[in-house]
Amino acid sequence: MVDAAAAERPKGRSLTPLRALAPFVRPYRGRTVLALVALVVAAGAMLALPVALRQLVDFGLGARSAETLNRYFVGFLAAAAAFGAFAAMRFYLMTWIGERIVADVRDAVYRRVIRMDPTFFETTRTGEVLSRLTTDTTLVQTIAGSSLSIALRSSLNLVGSLVMMALTSLKLMGFIVVGIPLVVAPLIVVGRSVRKLSRESQDAIADSSGLAGETLNAVQTVQAFRLEELQSHRFNTAVEQSFVVAIKRTRVRAWLTALGTMLVFGAITMVLWLGAHEVIAGRMTGGELGQFLMYAMFVGVAAASLSETWGDVQRAAGAMDRLVELMLHAEPAIRAPAAPAQLPARSQGHIAFEGVSFRYPSRPETRALDDYSLEIRAGETIAFVGPSGAGKSTAFQLLMRFYDPEAGRITMDGVPLTALAPEDVRGQIAMVPQDTVLFGASARENIRYGRPDATDAEIEAAARAAAADEFLKKLPQGYDTFLGERGTRLSGGQRQRIAIARAILKDPPVLLLDEATSALDAESERLVQQALEGLMRGRTTIIIAHRLATVLKADRIVVMDHGRIVGVGTHAELRETNALYARLADLQFAPNAG
Ligand code: ATP
Repeated sequence: MVDAAAAERPKGRSLTPLRALAPFVRPYRGRTVLALVALVVAAGAMLALPVALRQLVDFGLGARSAETLNRYFVGFLAAAAAFGAFAAMRFYLMTWIGERIVADVRDAVYRRVIRMDPTFFETTRTGEVLSRLTTDTTLVQTIAGSSLSIALRSSLNLVGSLVMMALTSLKLMGFIVVGIPLVVAPLIVVGRSVRKLSRESQDAIADSSGLAGETLNAVQTVQAFRLEELQSHRFNTAVEQSFVVAIKRTRVRAWLTALGTMLVFGAITMVLWLGAHEVIAGRMTGGELGQFLMYAMFVGVAAASLSETWGDVQRAAGAMDRLVELMLHAEPAIRAPAAPAQLPARSQGHIAFEGVSFRYPSRPETRALDDYSLEIRAGETIAFVGPSGAGKSTAFQLLMRFYDPEAGRITMDGVPLTALAPEDVRGQIAMVPQDTVLFGASARENIRYGRPDATDAEIEAAARAAAADEFLKKLPQGYDTFLGERGTRLSGGQRQRIAIARAILKDPPVLLLDEATSALDAESERLVQQALEGLMRGRTTIIIAHRLATVLKADRIVVMDHGRIVGVGTHAELRETNALYARLADLQFAPNAG
């Protein structure tokens, strides 16, 4: 989505996306002004050097007095020292601002992305977002930190040198004015194609990292199906594609550099030749020619580095364009209304689905929930039962306000969820999923996700209540053991108990539980059940049930099929009256599965 939208942008206004950097520069206004002052003073000092040189040649050497000569040398040195000092200051400040801005941009992009709704992540690959965060921000850093500084300095030197050249010798300058378009026009043309190729190159890189992210996140699936070769091949194709585009861009840039250097230095030689004739004819002093030439060199160097950095600046503009897309245009569809209603810190946990219909944005042809109405009293335990795809998980997603219904409404204590801030809704709910995600942190920190301000003692109490204390203590560093990326070092039952401990710590009025379909070993099963019973007490609980023990304990069982409710009752009632339930119960709750 990000790409498609960016590609639709009108081309040509190449640098406009850089304007989006303005708000990031604003907090550092003081430093920016200082950097600009250093830039101007350094340029001024540099432009003074040729004048000092001329005076040295024309008067210092002519004076034939050691003292006068020394004075001119001191003047020359002073200009050089000032140039050096201010150039260093400019370099430091510009780089500082660049680094600062990029750090802030990265932060802003991440802050934005982490709040996006599931629809965004269904249509944008995480790898692509990561590439934005790293590659694109690094590009912006290149320009904000160095290229922009070089471009500014070069432009200033270019203009300043041109003015000084005109002041030195109008006649020679005349030649140059005629020559400049001949030098610059070809450079502009080649520069354009560099920009186009830059964008292609960035897209190709994002493509390959998207692909890598996707497969590395599911590396076991890839290996289980022995798709390593196939995936490597796909990745290789993407990488080769980005290589080809990058080389194409580099080739054009190499031509640009060659062309720029040759044209500029050719022009300078031409001027030197003309100037030498002026000096021979006595219409110009040697010092003046030296001064003029030094300025011409400055112009040459400035033009060359401008032509080189121009590509960078344009690449960065391309990168900024995509970042802006993420930062400013990616708005979560699920957000708080302008004046959100307030729930009490702890709601009663009375939930109602009122004629809810919903289709996933990526599957608009089927209704995942269809005219779904269900009232759940505070403290009640409800079991959802139904075949795969019946909409059980969807009901959870909507209840946590990851999506809003298309028709109907869901209320909590009578307040429609859409009138509430999503964070508020989620604050009232704890979710224990089938497959718990653990983060690359210690066991303690992983439990602390339930309530970030919990003390260590509270965390341990929650772990005890979740029957997780015993195995956690046995880990090599106890609670401080690093659980590895996505917690791969724990068993399914252990991970689930960590999720339960999180929920206990969070202590919300509403509990959503997705029972594991895969059988745990008898001991784990017993511990998990025990922990869950403790957790469910005094809360409104909805369970996607896969076990007989669970449905037997539920106050009511809700049978779902194709997004609709096809029966509500107890196990005994439904077994008699509901054909779908009877069939499911026979299949799922056979003695060894219960
Ligand atoms: P299971 O027991 O297999 O988890 P379920 O009853 O929880 O099934 P849901 O996951 O709610 O079923 O799915 C309901 C319907 O919505 C299915 O047709 C499913 O294919 C579809 N669906 C679920 N998640 C998405 C999604 N993120 N995008 C598009 N369609 C989805």
